[in-house]
Amino acid sequence: MVRRHGNRCPRCNGAMVYERFQDMLDLFYAWRCLNCGEIVDPVVARNREPERNRKKRAVG
Ligand SMILES: [Zn+2]
Repeated sequence: MVRRHGNRCPRCNGAMVYERFQDMLDLFYAWRCLNCGEIVDPVVARNREPERNRKKRAVG
């Protein structure tokens, strides 16, 4: 799902713009807050989600 304008900064709730950034390897797009400069990269944000390792345990 693509979010358009109307995104709000998670820190200050300010207006954000979708901008292009250059990484060492390639280009990527991320949201940048016009107010505080917070950068929210959708990809990074997704990678930040804690992974819960499901350990299989034999019960019994
Ligand atoms: Zn902000």
